[in-house]
Amino acid sequence: MSLSSNSQAIEQLKWQKFPVLNDGFVCLVDCMGDDAAVVQAARVSYGEGTRQRSDDRTLIRYLLRHRHTTPFEMAELKFLIRVPMDCWRQWIRHRTASVNEYSTRYSVAIDSMQTTSPGEWRTQAVQNRQGSGIELPIDLGDKLTAEEHHFQHQARQLYLQRLEAGVAREQARKDLPLSTYTEAYWKIDLHNLLHFLALRSDEHAQAEIRAYAQTIGEQIVAKLFPVAWEAFGDYRVRSLNLTALDVGVIQRLMVRLRPSQSSTWSEEDFLAAQDPSWLPLPRSRERDECRAKLVRLGMLPAESPEAQ
Ligand SMILES: Cc1cc2nc3c(=O)[nH]c(=O)nc-3n(C[C@H](O)[C@H](O)[C@H](O)COP(=O)(O)OP(=O)(O)OC[C@H]3O[C@@H](n4cnc5c(N)ncnc54)[C@H](O)[C@@H]3O)c2cc1C
Repeated sequence: MSLSSNSQAIEQLKWQKFPVLNDGFVCLVDCMGDDAAVVQAARVSYGEGTRQRSDDRTLIRYLLRHRHTTPFEMAELKFLIRVPMDCWRQWIRHRTASVNEYSTRYSVAIDSMQTTSPGEWRTQAVQNRQGSGIELPIDLGDKLTAEEHHFQHQARQLYLQRLEAGVAREQARKDLPLSTYTEAYWKIDLHNLLHFLALRSDEHAQAEIRAYAQTIGEQIVAKLFPVAWEAFGDYRVRSLNLTALDVGVIQRLMVRLRPSQSSTWSEEDFLAAQDPSWLPLPRSRERDECRAKLVRLGMLPAESPEAQ
């Protein structure tokens, strides 16, 4: 299979603002390269011989599966994004991008904040100390949303009053909430973009930044790099990484008989087959992660109380 150019898709996507959250967006500014650029770079390394042995799609899939990174660095994408400051703080940790951000020293801060509707407030997760749990009741959500509206309005008023009183913009901004939107140009190569998307669309990432990652991936990357995107789904996003300890658990489970009439092993079997280093631990994140993988493989029942 040979690859078609994405120049038409680039023209269609450029400057189209894909909405995210209440007032955020992602927008493709420019793109250099396509699936063919990845293949072209790889063939320099591997020579013409690869043309006989693998077609273009197969080669991209091989490269991604085997973590050959540099061919994917040959393509670059530039975005304009509008994102609340708390998401941006996470986003900017990805050091392999080039960034120019709206300056609230030069200009008045963007008059927009991320709002949360009554049904969107989440509880603190019990297991994952960084994450969210379930939705909060709607009547509490109503109250939280009303308070948020009041607070955001007050914070903006205070900011504007400071500016009017002659306070420097760089100082007046200090009490603006993290929900305030910022805008930035963000340029990154395809390899590091896929790395960003893998981390930030994962279920462990915060819902708000996941919304951005999913929009970039599904609305833009999928259309510009269909073959690389398909391989990324197959070999990264929907793949399963088994550690040496996980393999040991599976090997020990395989020699135990499954309970009769059951297509899965039991929680008891799992605990008996667990890695010896987890045994003394009342709580083990690694054990929980291993259990979740076995549930995904259909080896343990999804209803296992600890897997919740
Ligand atoms: C779910 C989640 C939770 C997180 N929680 C926290 C947290 O609690 N606290 C916190 O501080 N951070 C946290 N982070 C941020 C995380 O630790 C990384 O800083 C962030 O995801 C960027 O990843 P990266 O360094 O791989 O990406 P990039 O900065 O884009 O780098 C890509 C790759 O380039 C290489 N690289 C880049 N720069 C260097 C360098 N200077 N030296 C060597 N190699 C380099 C590395 O191989 C790196 O993986 C979290 C991230 C996620 C996804």
